[in-house]
Amino acid sequence: MLLRSHTADGHERDFVGYAGSPPHADWPGGARLALNFVLNYEEGSEYSIADGDGRSESALTEVSAPRVPIGERDLAAESMYEYGTRVGFWRVARLFAERGLPITAFGCALALERNPPAAAFMAARGWDVCCHGYRWVEHYRLTEDEEREQIRLAVSSIQRTMGERPLGWYCRYAPSTATRRLLVEEGGFLYDSDAYNDELPYWTPVAGRRHLVLPYSLVTNDVKLTSGLFTGDDFFALLRNAFDVLYAEGAHAPKMMSVGLHPRLIGHPARMAGLIRFVDYVQSKPDVWVCRRADIARHWIARHPVAVAAAPMAASATA
Ligand SMILES: [Zn+2]
Repeated sequence: MLLRSHTADGHERDFVGYAGSPPHADWPGGARLALNFVLNYEEGSEYSIADGDGRSESALTEVSAPRVPIGERDLAAESMYEYGTRVGFWRVARLFAERGLPITAFGCALALERNPPAAAFMAARGWDVCCHGYRWVEHYRLTEDEEREQIRLAVSSIQRTMGERPLGWYCRYAPSTATRRLLVEEGGFLYDSDAYNDELPYWTPVAGRRHLVLPYSLVTNDVKLTSGLFTGDDFFALLRNAFDVLYAEGAHAPKMMSVGLHPRLIGHPARMAGLIRFVDYVQSKPDVWVCRRADIARHWIARHPVAVAAAPMAASATA
């Protein structure tokens, strides 16, 4: 019986995971859910003619496809990105500050360099930065040396801009088959989030060491507002539904929930209304651990230091 499949480069696919019997997360205060809001701080790091890239990026803006020929500058797309750092960021940042809620940044190093007031605000408010690359770069196109260089560039830049090194990593586009190993070899990272395959952290062996993965979500994520959802009400309903299911399960089997946000998307007033309603909803519920991503990583390292071997789901659990 072949339970796991190996690719030629040694990457393993695990279709079993916790096998329906995840460990009890044992979140602080007996919380039923660890809820982590993530603001992707990335505008200014995207491919840009002005930065000499030979093309303009227009992903996750108000248009569904590039409207200028490849190789020409897309000033409209550039301006839509700038809305994120000039306006949207501050609207989201104010909400979390006013509510006293922690939040994580998926930070592109170059984007943070380009907006010192935003970086200073995050640092002063104790945001944790999970590194989202030095720039938006397709890591899977890089050689191993180029990728190692990009990781080092990102870490040293964020260290300078934020005063602290990043503790996590999340690739824009997709990781390469070497990314995880390069992060482990580089050292200093508590976790990476280049995974969508679970609702709890898990350990995975990398280069002879254990490495922690905190899965992320592109479902409970405002990217849905560019591909299917339309209004802030839609977004609120999506988040509330996920929250309700996980909150109910959390009476016995607490999970983590990531809410992915982008200043240039959720930061528009029409959409922001949905996020505000969700925050109201969350704050009306007891036993929710709203936390930073690094807090979840530290909790897992302290309380679940050993990988759990997958045990088949008990027959009674399915009854
Ligand atoms: Zn992103």
